[in-house]
Amino acid sequence: MNLQSTKKLANGILMPRLGLGVYKMTDRDETLQAITTAIDLGYRAIDTAALYYNEEEVGEAIRNASVKREELFVTTKVWNSDQGYDNTLRAFETSLKKLDMDYVDLYLTHWPVEGKFVDTYRAIERLYEEKLIRVPGVSNHHEHHLQQVLASCNVAPMVNQVELQPYLNQAELRAFCQEHQIAVTAWSPLGRGHVLNDETITRIAADYGVTPAQVILRWHIQNDVLVIPKSVTPSRIKENSEVFHFELTEATMQEINALNRNERFGQSPDSFKFDF
Ligand code: NAD
Repeated sequence: MNLQSTKKLANGILMPRLGLGVYKMTDRDETLQAITTAIDLGYRAIDTAALYYNEEEVGEAIRNASVKREELFVTTKVWNSDQGYDNTLRAFETSLKKLDMDYVDLYLTHWPVEGKFVDTYRAIERLYEEKLIRVPGVSNHHEHHLQQVLASCNVAPMVNQVELQPYLNQAELRAFCQEHQIAVTAWSPLGRGHVLNDETITRIAADYGVTPAQVILRWHIQNDVLVIPKSVTPSRIKENSEVFHFELTEATMQEINALNRNERFGQSPDSFKFDF
């Protein structure tokens, strides 16, 4: 495997296993710089959202990139205040305009807004039928949310993007998703930095001669989880991409799996405050 390795999704589309997350990149130049650095290093996936207010910068960086648009995999998401069938279609149009693109690779329901998320996904399905997106998906969906979506859709979501890091390894949700051919992407794959000082992780990093971030990203990849670490620092963007030259043993994988304590650093899909 290498930085351009992909996972084949349920419809045969290939999604890069490692991409750049761009949440909280609000400074224009910094965002352009981070995306350009990543693409030049070989990243082929960028994860944004309407909420991040940087779709225009993502589009601009990609237009000026050293590789063609078709070689890149762009994800964006419909924000909570825009959910429901018609609103989602409108929100998608706005995102597409801001990105200045003809299509998006992956479009996600950002959070399962109660009473709306099933209709939001119906709109995403329609965008898929109209070939405006290459892959339909969701984010922050627990199994019970997925069950509701699956019960009413024609085309099942092909990706579920959830918080996933060594302290929250989502083993049960991953098993459910695997059964239904739904690929899992880890958001906050590094636990927003909180897991990097964990004693087990730092010891393993020293043993393998790599960094804690590299250990965690490699653990995700060996668990067949897609990752989108965020950084604006060129040396970290590079470091996070260098996870293909070593392999964790089964014993090391089990050791990291055992760190799970169901601890979230972000919000929970069941108690998220949707009204802002
Ligand atoms: P992350 O786990 O990627 O951590 C990012 C932070 O870790 C950075 O701010 C940086 O300070 C630090 N970091 C990054 N690389 C490092 C390294 N090599 N060494 C030391 N520190 C390092 O957290 P995130 O940004 O919350 O998540 C990644 C991406 O996931 C986001 O940018 C976004 O695209 C996506 N996301 C999605 C949702 C969702 O609801 N779908 C929610 C949050 C984030």
